[in-house]
Amino acid sequence: MKIIIKKTAIDKYKKGYPILSSNYINYSYKNEDQGKIVDLVDYNENFIAKAYLGKQNKGLGWVFSNKQNTSLDNSFFKDKIEKAISLRSKLFKDCHTNAFRLFNSFGDGIGGITIDYYAGFLVINWYNKGILKYKDLIIQNLLNSGKAKGIYQKFKFKHENTKEYVNHIYGKKAPQSFFILENGVKYCINFEDGEMVGIFLDQREVRKLLTSSFSQEKSVLNTFSYTGAFSIAGLAGSAKSTTSVDLAKRSLLKTLDNLKINNLTTDQQEIIVEDVFNYFKYALRKKLLFDILILDPPSFAKSKKRSFSVLNDYSALVQMIIPLVAKSGYIIASTNNSQLPLDKFKDMVEKGIASHNRPFEIKQIFRLPQDFSVNPVYPQGNYLKVLLLKLD
Ligand code: SAH
Repeated sequence: MKIIIKKTAIDKYKKGYPILSSNYINYSYKNEDQGKIVDLVDYNENFIAKAYLGKQNKGLGWVFSNKQNTSLDNSFFKDKIEKAISLRSKLFKDCHTNAFRLFNSFGDGIGGITIDYYAGFLVINWYNKGILKYKDLIIQNLLNSGKAKGIYQKFKFKHENTKEYVNHIYGKKAPQSFFILENGVKYCINFEDGEMVGIFLDQREVRKLLTSSFSQEKSVLNTFSYTGAFSIAGLAGSAKSTTSVDLAKRSLLKTLDNLKINNLTTDQQEIIVEDVFNYFKYALRKKLLFDILILDPPSFAKSKKRSFSVLNDYSALVQMIIPLVAKSGYIIASTNNSQLPLDKFKDMVEKGIASHNRPFEIKQIFRLPQDFSVNPVYPQGNYLKVLLLKLD
């Protein structure tokens, strides 16, 4: 089947634009199209690229090759998976880290699928129905790679199985709760717990900073703390105290679990289950001060009293928390919102600080770590932005 690319977008696709966007083609998607392979052509039917169809957000499919004779067969998947594994050979050999992203969607040559590695257990995330057509080939090649003790899957789109977030499909089953190692620190993982398994692998570099002497003798306020991973990393780096704040009740036990498996005492650690905005009010009233303040909100957060969106409210959030930052203290401001370019995010954070007239400096900017491969033709794939700011 052929799909004609609109004139205005031909150059884009020739340069390798990966998403088959409804803005750039005249095609009405049918349900039976899922997984079909199409040739993208210009008005004169000259070949441009090969794509598979699979509806995902606003996209109708993913480009997988600019060569006409490529197809989604065994050798294609074998090649992509072997390349992905060899790109991560350093991580496979690292005895202090055994959890990372093994395959990152278009960054590793196939859009619509990511695979995470947790101490030998793989979790495949399927982002559209089309790629599922190639499930057997993908799994066979993962098994052949010898890197998987067991394989789990997760559907990131509406699927009859969405209730079972992560389900076991091949090989050994992981214990209900187990731990992974990252830069020598242990973090609890639970595949049966819901959509999130306990750690966000893309923040490894930020946790590495916190695990270093950077945290020594510092007080850390970790907001939107989830399982307390940033607090644990800070304590591994000899932080003086940590305060972890999250609205979700699960965060208390999960943070305690993470403290326990690392033999960290709970004496100087506060774990607060509360809306961070209420906590900020309290902390401001009490004039609390922290040496490191971590902000890692979800793109949208809703609590009983308010809703927060990174795009609209990050500046205000930063503005509100500045008085809580001790002299020469740091803010770690993070977002994984892919619609927010780095420059705009920087502007928002800087605007929030500027209203206080307090000199500051951006010390470091973190993007996705190397295992979250990004293809340079699609830099938007590098969704993570984390600013390390030092205040006067
Ligand atoms: N920083 C964490 C990940 C954060 S995930 C890490 O690195 O592991 C986002 C978290 O924000 C979720 O745990 C969610 O419960 C929490 N959250 C959302 N809205 C909140 C609010 N208003 N107050 C406190 N926590 C909130």
